[in-house]
Amino acid sequence: MSLVRCLATLNRAVGGLSTLLPHQSTSTRAAPSCAIFNFRNHSTHQTLTSSGTVRNASASASPRPSPADRPRLKSAGRSADTRPTSPRAISAVSFDAHRSRVVLQVVGVADREDRQQQYEFPAVWLRDNCQCERCFHGGSSSRVLNWERFDVDRMRRVKRVEVVDAGRSLEVLWDEEGEVHRSVFELEWLLRRSFRREDTERYLREWYRPEPVIWGAAGFEEVLREFSYAEVLADDGTLRQWIEALIAYGVVMIKGAPLTENECRRLADRVGFIRKTHYGEEFIVKAKEGTSNVAYLSTPLQMHTDLPYYDYKPGCNLLHCLVQSTNAVGGENLIADGFYVAEQLRQHHPDDFRLLSETLVDWSDLGADEAGTFHSIYRAPVICVGRDGRLERINHSVPQRDSHFSVPIDRVEPWYRAMQRFVSILHREAVSFKTAPGDILTFSNVRMVHGRTGYTDTAGNTRHIVGAYLDWDEIYSKLRVLKAASDKNTP
Ligand SMILES: [Zn+2]
Repeated sequence: MSLVRCLATLNRAVGGLSTLLPHQSTSTRAAPSCAIFNFRNHSTHQTLTSSGTVRNASASASPRPSPADRPRLKSAGRSADTRPTSPRAISAVSFDAHRSRVVLQVVGVADREDRQQQYEFPAVWLRDNCQCERCFHGGSSSRVLNWERFDVDRMRRVKRVEVVDAGRSLEVLWDEEGEVHRSVFELEWLLRRSFRREDTERYLREWYRPEPVIWGAAGFEEVLREFSYAEVLADDGTLRQWIEALIAYGVVMIKGAPLTENECRRLADRVGFIRKTHYGEEFIVKAKEGTSNVAYLSTPLQMHTDLPYYDYKPGCNLLHCLVQSTNAVGGENLIADGFYVAEQLRQHHPDDFRLLSETLVDWSDLGADEAGTFHSIYRAPVICVGRDGRLERINHSVPQRDSHFSVPIDRVEPWYRAMQRFVSILHREAVSFKTAPGDILTFSNVRMVHGRTGYTDTAGNTRHIVGAYLDWDEIYSKLRVLKAASDKNTP
């Protein structure tokens, strides 16, 4: 990756040796003079918290590892399971009838075994999650409780609570239309479902979606991990490290894939299955005449996300380089962390952030390819924010932004100004590098914004890339499967 360069240093002599911190403005950043990254001890990574705010990750504290060591590093996005291993037991249980909560006193949770912790569980939730055979089908891990007869006022009433199994389980008896229903919950099962805020946050981080670590141009070399293609295919631990790095940093390089057209499929099959689009399953990126997509031209490919006109946009790109352009300049990949760019806007230009996150843009693609003729339209903002404030998806594609712009007319010019700012920061925070034959560049298509410089094919040198997509649902699923298998752990 010696060709890694900060676009900012190439284009406008700003950019950097240190990641933009929340309190810094762009005008106060030092202008670096070198074009090659060297920023040991300078970078600060930021992690998005569940509330959508940004906190700094600790990745800057340790010295930069040598490239050979890097793939083996535990990624900064992965948090250790801090649950204690000491035996835990229920020391007391009571039912708070007023609030309809079962209250447990549990020992062994903290470092000191005699220290009691209190856990509360709503009775109605316990009844809904009864694990008996009539209420829960273990073989399919599914609730089969009859909800047609579910009555909250009745279900919130508990007849009796008791500690059983030497403190390892809770028994709850319910009075149901004259019949007593018995539920038994293992303490460990209950603790994994604790309603304490720190416990729900830990569950979401460990089992739902680990938090992304966002980065600006100055942080790129430090976050870029490389993995061996053969190891990802053969070893579950390496597969998991690749997935965790992809979640944390949004972009990961896989090296040493054979130079045949089937390798994206083999990699995708290792995770789940290829996400098909109207361009097919695998797509070949070669300069071609009469193309249905500007990606198939050799002219510069502006920075963009793929297929923003899909409601269910493909989640992750796999781009396998078979033949790279041998032009001294050209055919380089450009990539930037769209979440970082969005956070810069949110912090420093909140009005622009609001415009780009609230204005629905019409994205479209019309044409014909191997799956036939298509006419796709989807409306979504450039910056998609979840209900919890978290960034969910970036949409940006100049070619595939429709001339239909279905917004109030007063919104148009302000939106263009905000977009101009977004693209300006995007280019400032973009990095460029050239993949080599055998590289598979993998990156999030909902987070990263990517492009390519123009190139010229010559006799005997035709740039040849094979691409495919994976969906994040399958990637997260595979991570959980690997995690549950290797940690002997259940969510
Ligand atoms: Zn039951």
